[in-house]
Amino acid sequence: MQAVVKYARQDGAVQVRDIPEPHITPDQVLIEVKAVGVCGSDVHMWRDHQSWQVKLPVVLGHEFCGVVAQVGARVNGFQVGERVACETAAEICGECVYCRSGNYNLCPSRRGFGALIDGAMTRYVAVRPQILHRLPDIVSFEHAALTEPICVAYNALVEKTRLKPGDCVVIQGVGAIGMMALQIAKLHGAHPIVALGTDVDARRLDIARQLGATHTLNVQREDPRALIQSLGDGFGADVVVDCTGVSAAFKTSMALVRPNGTITKIGWGPQPLDASLDPIVAKAVTVQGAFSHTYATWERVLRLLASGQINLAPIIGGVYPLTEWREAFARMEDGTNVKSVISIQ
Ligand SMILES: [Zn+2]
Ligand SMILES: [Zn+2]
Repeated sequence: MQAVVKYARQDGAVQVRDIPEPHITPDQVLIEVKAVGVCGSDVHMWRDHQSWQVKLPVVLGHEFCGVVAQVGARVNGFQVGERVACETAAEICGECVYCRSGNYNLCPSRRGFGALIDGAMTRYVAVRPQILHRLPDIVSFEHAALTEPICVAYNALVEKTRLKPGDCVVIQGVGAIGMMALQIAKLHGAHPIVALGTDVDARRLDIARQLGATHTLNVQREDPRALIQSLGDGFGADVVVDCTGVSAAFKTSMALVRPNGTITKIGWGPQPLDASLDPIVAKAVTVQGAFSHTYATWERVLRLLASGQINLAPIIGGVYPLTEWREAFARMEDGTNVKSVISIQ
């Protein structure tokens, strides 16, 4: 079967290769992939800019859905032909305190699809049934493939940050996670919602306004502090959500957050901070990290998709066949698409 494979630690070392179909163990389910979202992290791995471990070669892709093609002898509860979406934690130890307490996203032995385990930019993937979710009929494969980034935003804003209706929220970064964070904040009653981008984001800032941002701003052209001070009582944002991972954004987060406010960091980046953390102390700010998601979040997000409460139409810039993966990646890199989806025929 054809697969999009990263084969070396260098810029551009990704190609379509022919690989053998996987065999399932009696405890696994074989998924015939129908759609895969291209993540910013896939683009980073194409450019070899990732700040996490990858095995080589590796099939890319961790945002996926499909139909059950085969069910292992010891698996109950799934039938061939069912439509499913799959979480990203391909393997966990199952025994550590985080696995036992349902926080398996933090298992030190967690190995994710498309990084340490072969991913879904191909026809078949062998998965453990514990991370499968049945798709509501009304949710298309192209939309279901984006469940994962919505879960990232839901986990960060609802489960970790405990956003409140009426909170002033600043979203830094208008990639897919930023757009999902914006929509979750809006669903949660946040107001105002400010989306911040850069020169490459002109189109994406327009989309952010369509999706509910009350204000948008290009931080390379204007200072966001003046805007934030003009909102409400002028003390700043209740919550700043960093969906960029750039160190400069964290300095801005510290400037924009109000005393007793919260900075929630979703974006990753390997650069050192190069700034004093004194504002965190002076403003008594809570800094919250958020990573991945777990089962209950997926079920809730699928209900949000089924009930039409998340708008994915302006986010999906294009749907591409597997052989056009390069175009799918490039249109995300250059800012044309917030999200590209690969459809497996
Ligand atoms: Zn991702
Ligand atoms: Zn574990």
